[in-house]
Amino acid sequence: MQQTIRPWQEITPMSNVNSIVQNDLSSLIHPYTNLAQHRETGPFVITGGDGVRVFDDQGNAYIEAMSGLWSVALGFSEQRLVDAAIEQFKQLPYYHSFSHKTNAPAAALAAKLAELAPGDLNHVFFTNSGSEANDSMVKMVWYVNNALGKPHKKKFISRQQAYHGTTVASASLTGIPSIHRDFDLPAIPVHHLTCPNAYRFARPGETEEAFSARLADELERYILAEGAETIAAFIGEPVIAAGGVIPPPQGYWAAIQAVCKRYDILVVVDEIVTGFGRLGTMFGSQLYGIQPDILVLSKQLTSSYQPLAALVVSDAIHDVLVSQSQRLGAFAHGLTCTGHPVATAVALENIRIIEERGLLGHVQRLAPEFQRRLRAFADHPLVGDVRGVGLVGAIELVANKATGQPFAQPGVLGGYLFKQTHKHGLIIRAIYDTIAFCPPLITTQDDLDAIFSAFDRALADATDWARSQNLL
Ligand code: PMP
Repeated sequence: MQQTIRPWQEITPMSNVNSIVQNDLSSLIHPYTNLAQHRETGPFVITGGDGVRVFDDQGNAYIEAMSGLWSVALGFSEQRLVDAAIEQFKQLPYYHSFSHKTNAPAAALAAKLAELAPGDLNHVFFTNSGSEANDSMVKMVWYVNNALGKPHKKKFISRQQAYHGTTVASASLTGIPSIHRDFDLPAIPVHHLTCPNAYRFARPGETEEAFSARLADELERYILAEGAETIAAFIGEPVIAAGGVIPPPQGYWAAIQAVCKRYDILVVVDEIVTGFGRLGTMFGSQLYGIQPDILVLSKQLTSSYQPLAALVVSDAIHDVLVSQSQRLGAFAHGLTCTGHPVATAVALENIRIIEERGLLGHVQRLAPEFQRRLRAFADHPLVGDVRGVGLVGAIELVANKATGQPFAQPGVLGGYLFKQTHKHGLIIRAIYDTIAFCPPLITTQDDLDAIFSAFDRALADATDWARSQNLL
């Protein structure tokens, strides 16, 4: 596989790191960081990257088995993405797309996404982040239902443990309690259904199909209780990612989609993690046979070299937007950097590389080995569940393997293991005690060996520590 490798010697610690650290301690508010603890420990400074590896300011190398934030499909040194950005900076560094204006990369990327997206999803609206995309989606759905003369059809249905972002509406759709607590959320009408996690919520002896049927029934009962005329849309990630890496049980999406169609409820598929090859298909919707009304994309869209997200909406939704403009005038929604030329140029090049290098086929070939290596930990005394699909997976650590009972203090062992992996040159994510893996799409067999041998050593350290703490 082609990959630009920078010589090791070129990757030197930054000379001004100390001043960065000083400024950082006083100035930068870190997202998803314990801010009190941060004052004591200081930041972990990443200064460079090369393929699937990143380097810190002390010269240590780490395999980035989380692709940053589930997002750096092409690794950390793809020169073609850098060149695409530089070329576009030279040609036109910025222009907006308000009031009929456009720029070439934004228009070309919209056409490309329309070509790739399933079914009649042919119209694209750009934002700078996934959260903004989901907020824009909520506004668009409300606007469309007002236009259709359905002013009461406004509620959203989401799932517990779903992750859809952190802005006001998207965080409301997110189904993780810590993201709501003390932020006065949810702030939009939304109901969170049972998380489709078979390990946690399937009943003893219940098959995956029966669990899916029960969840679809829960959805239908909720719709009937509330009245379908009050419910606008169902939103879901094909595979829940940040909420604990939860692939759907067998038959889940077909059952959910059938209920939504029956009651005229839009299906919004948040493919911010699953889009662009993560599961071995361009979109997770294709893997699970979902026909979305709205597709939400970001992260691997640009390999996160530039901030960019997109909504891809159906002809039917777009027709309503157009007819609403005939009544009201301009579609009064947009952001200064909607369709930014540099971000969209990078996205076009990123998709071109994914296609040229056959990365979907590569993921399909590598995924069975990745999943096998993950499942090799299933017998470990601390491991309750191993799950995953494509190039994303997780190992859930539990206090009692036989019963699946979680630890009394969630996240303590996961946090310890997370730190140990750093010592062994590996970056994974600890979602409390669920250890997530989401390596770049360019990961090779040798990289997998390195990831799992480092993890094996870190888990051995964590196991000793768990014993010393009477956690095991
Ligand atoms: N949806 C999903 C499925 C995500 O994983 C994320 C980010 N982790 C978001 C939405 C929010 O995207 P952003 O962080 O770019 O706002």
